Amino acid sequence: MRTRITLACTECKQRNYNTTKDKKTHPDRMELKKYCRFCRKHTLHKETK
Ligand SMILES: [Zn+2]
Repeated sequence: MRTRITLACTECKQRNYNTTKDKKTHPDRMELKKYCRFCRKHTLHKETK
């Protein structure tokens, strides 16, 4: 089963990405380097609920 999550930029707090994750491989909050169009650079994005 995959769970829907939202990824938010840690710098501007914008929610930029919707994705899914496997709770078995990522039981904790996911953190990914993604391009933020508000910061206009790659920033760390964290999973939000
Ligand atoms: Zn940002």
